[in-house]
Amino acid sequence: MKKYQMYINGAFFEGARKETLESINPSNEEVIASFPKASLEDAREAIDVARLAFDKGEWPCLSHQERGQYLLKIAQAIRQEAKALSQIESMSTGKTLKQTTFIDIPTCASTFEYFAFVASELKGETIPVPAPALSLTQREPTGVVASIIPWNYPLIMFAWKIAPALACGNTVVLKPSQFGCLSILELTALIDKIGLPKGVVNVITGDGKELGPELAANPKVDMISFTGSTNVGKEIMRLASNNTKKIHLELGGKSPNIVFADCDLEAALGGAMSAIFMNQGQMCTAGSRLLIEESIHDKFLKCLIEKTKRLKIGNSLDYTTDFGPLISREHRQNVLKFIETGVKEKASLVCGGKIPSAEQFKKGFYLEPTIFANVENSMTIAQEEIFGPVLSVIKFTSVEEAIKIANDTKYGLAAMVWTKDLNKANMVAKKLQVGTVWINTYGGFYNEAPFGGYKQSGIGRELGKEGLWEYTQLKHINLDLTEGGKSLVTTWFG
Ligand code: NAD
Repeated sequence: MKKYQMYINGAFFEGARKETLESINPSNEEVIASFPKASLEDAREAIDVARLAFDKGEWPCLSHQERGQYLLKIAQAIRQEAKALSQIESMSTGKTLKQTTFIDIPTCASTFEYFAFVASELKGETIPVPAPALSLTQREPTGVVASIIPWNYPLIMFAWKIAPALACGNTVVLKPSQFGCLSILELTALIDKIGLPKGVVNVITGDGKELGPELAANPKVDMISFTGSTNVGKEIMRLASNNTKKIHLELGGKSPNIVFADCDLEAALGGAMSAIFMNQGQMCTAGSRLLIEESIHDKFLKCLIEKTKRLKIGNSLDYTTDFGPLISREHRQNVLKFIETGVKEKASLVCGGKIPSAEQFKKGFYLEPTIFANVENSMTIAQEEIFGPVLSVIKFTSVEEAIKIANDTKYGLAAMVWTKDLNKANMVAKKLQVGTVWINTYGGFYNEAPFGGYKQSGIGRELGKEGLWEYTQLKHINLDLTEGGKSLVTTWFG
């Protein structure tokens, strides 16, 4: 069994108290590896070295292009090790090998490539001011950034946090989830070989409830960038007020997937399936509320159930698997409780809802892909983020009703609209209170385009130039140009 270590100040380290946690393969419950359970002392040490590397080190002083060269080397290492990284990502998260091979690893590499070349987005402005002065803005790094990420897309989340932070000249302490963190430790070993200055990237592993609050509250940290559930995000926000540090929050969702009668049925069906069953529904942008226009409701639902029943459930490392296990036994239990609640609240369980009974599923955290019909939007299963393969189907009769239902949630991460009438699609998109609207598609994430939430789905943006600017602070520099060299203020008191 492989024993991983954390990474602090350019060295691998087992942690001061030498305690470990185990990583379990969700497909078969085998223990794959152990990794350190960091203490508060370890977290503080990681913060201290990141502080020193920012305040006294060379990293913030390098040119954008020089830092970009390091990011390109990281991307190159990811591409070279793509096969091994996708295997470990699938083995430790339960995500299918098809997905890690075609989505997670290439996305991770391309995010580093994108942010390697964004120097032009870090430029300032010359502002015409009503005074004899040269007024300039410049973007500077924020300082020490603490990043906390979830388990559902470990490598992509790592890249989304680390690449823009490094491109701007910050130093980073990253804490992955205790679930599915092995790929990140593998990638950290690749980064180590590239030879970034010591203390620029630090990765600590362990219990989020113990380490997370330290990262959020420690006054030596200038910014906390958190991706995870809305409840933990609220706690992070409270703790970050300790030294009014900058916050960046990417939180939960309950995204509406609106299917109008005039859509391309096949495309909408495929999109609805991907939106709820990819990664076993463990996606912040899962289209977990499927709003279907009444006139096509029955036909659409029937086809959806048929297609869902054909999904091949299995070990995530089997390339032909469509649908792997959930991340852990505990998480599966939470999802099963939501299913129980849906039944109690009188939604109709029309597909799945159980642990599959075949012998091969006795070990592993498998759950059938699940569909509820006749769901009212006020029901728990339509309001709470389940973060699993549970779809709530809701009927609507008019465009106005669809928009009202879609917006009737505390979340505002994403929405999908399926129609051939692009004027209608555009009108609906404008009225949806969400950060991303996908029209006739699902899950289009681009390094160049901003992603983030409205309402309780977050604060700030990831990716694009806006995602880069999150990691900077803007300075205004004012240079007096008064003829003779004496500005009005210097002679104010005579
Ligand atoms: P989580 O909130 O339980 O944990 C997220 C991270 O926070 C983990 O690293 C965890 O160890 C840490 N943590 C846990 N308790 C903490 C505390 N009290 N203080 C500080 N840190 C703490 O979420 P999860 O189960 O890992 O991931 C699922 C959630 O993440 C879902 O709500 C999902 O929507 C969200 N998510 C959002 C996005 C997005 O971009 N908006 C992307 C992926 C996942």
